[in-house]
Amino acid sequence: MSDQQLTTAELKQIEIDLTKERERLEHDLQEFADPSKGNRDDYQTRFPQFGNKDDENAAEVANFSDQLSLEQTLESQLADVRSALSRLAKGTYGACRYCGKQIDKRRLLARPTSGSCVECKKKMQDQGSV
Ligand SMILES: [Zn+2]
Repeated sequence: MSDQQLTTAELKQIEIDLTKERERLEHDLQEFADPSKGNRDDYQTRFPQFGNKDDENAAEVANFSDQLSLEQTLESQLADVRSALSRLAKGTYGACRYCGKQIDKRRLLARPTSGSCVECKKKMQDQGSV
């Protein structure tokens, strides 16, 4: 076993951190959105109700549009966290999803949701697909 590999204790800690992160994201999303039926990864922002006056309606629209972009950010973070947790459960955590090589341990510890190695990530960026 090389020192590039995560230890059992490090994997356990990553799992704990990711689980906490998932709970935090779900909690934040539920503040202003409801999960879609049949797809727990998709949330629907609730339209705010401030009142029926023109300025209240304008504020509702502005607030709704802010929350929609927040929803997208949180949803994509949540999807990353869930996918990392499922790789942990399957025992494939830490392998690059494109080339299968072990992802740099320091990269995983710094950003536990990483699913690709630095080289593949760079290739994707060069191609403009990320
Ligand atoms: Zn790779």
